[in-house]
Amino acid sequence: MVSRIGIHESVEAIFPANALRESLADVEPDVRVVTSDDLAAVDALVTFVYEDAFRDAGLEWIHSVQAGVDRFPLDELDAAGIRLTNSTGTHGDSVGETVAGYMLSFARRLHEHRGKQTRGEWAWPAHDAPFTVDGSSLCVVGLGTLGRGIAMRADALGVDVVGVKRTPLPVDHVNEVYPATDLHEAIADAKFVALAVPLTDDTRHLIGPAELDAMRDDAVLVNVARGDVVDQDALVDGLRDGRLAGAALDVFETEPLPADSPLWEMDEVIVTPHAAAANRDYPERMATLVRENVRRLASGDRLANLVV
Ligand code: NAD
Repeated sequence: MVSRIGIHESVEAIFPANALRESLADVEPDVRVVTSDDLAAVDALVTFVYEDAFRDAGLEWIHSVQAGVDRFPLDELDAAGIRLTNSTGTHGDSVGETVAGYMLSFARRLHEHRGKQTRGEWAWPAHDAPFTVDGSSLCVVGLGTLGRGIAMRADALGVDVVGVKRTPLPVDHVNEVYPATDLHEAIADAKFVALAVPLTDDTRHLIGPAELDAMRDDAVLVNVARGDVVDQDALVDGLRDGRLAGAALDVFETEPLPADSPLWEMDEVIVTPHAAAANRDYPERMATLVRENVRRLASGDRLANLVV
């Protein structure tokens, strides 16, 4: 039974820790904001970062405020008897809208106009640059929470949506679902390719030189998954060589994106700071997940979003 929940100060990178504490005022366990020095005072931890000290602190349960838990040592936590839960299921709408925004920006040239605005420049884009997303095409790689949120919004905008899924069963708003083994075929005709897979041994550098070659020359790559899902050097080369037309990137091999990265300077690259899921409702959404698992812990039910 968990009686003291710590909210690790690292969540401040995403939202005010006290906002989550206040949202959890109704749960039975004591909830407090903690630093890594206070771990002995709690038996569960809600956190953004992972530190080895968490594994050795006698915690029963760790909740990651992110969906991706690639930074957590799953085997070690399992061996230590610590349950880890994640925040998947919460970002389909926010990330879906962000990806719709990227697509609209490329189609309607909004990033280009904004760039010109900063220079006080009044000029139309090249006559053949603007298009409508209505009638364009998108391949969503990974059809979980994010992928479905992206597909639904793209479908509503008139985009022809296909997708890639390990188990290629039908998915709403996706006209054709390809198995992971047919990735090249799935991405070959898409104007937009959106990555929404977790980072695992199977998905590291899922998009490399061969996949960039398989894509259309005028394709735009969207990565809202994890930076390492893409071979970033190959992507930079591909953008320079015109092997694809552009990219909207929320995640990078190194974050923050280093100041000397060529990606900052590319006109046809939109860089966002791992903020595709940013939302003022974030603390309340986390509170809903934590509250539900506090209830399940008390009743002995299997935890929601259990990773290990
Ligand atoms: P999810 O678990 O709901 O969905 C992931 C899907 O990818 C699952 O359906 C899984 O079967 C599928 N998948 C795994 N390997 C695959 C492969 N090789 N080919 C095709 N599909 C594969 O997770 P989610 O909430 O949709 O999040 C997905 C990932 O996106 C997270 O793991 C996280 O790394 C990242 N993410 C980023 C942000 C952001 O702010 N940019 C926000 C949330 C999640």
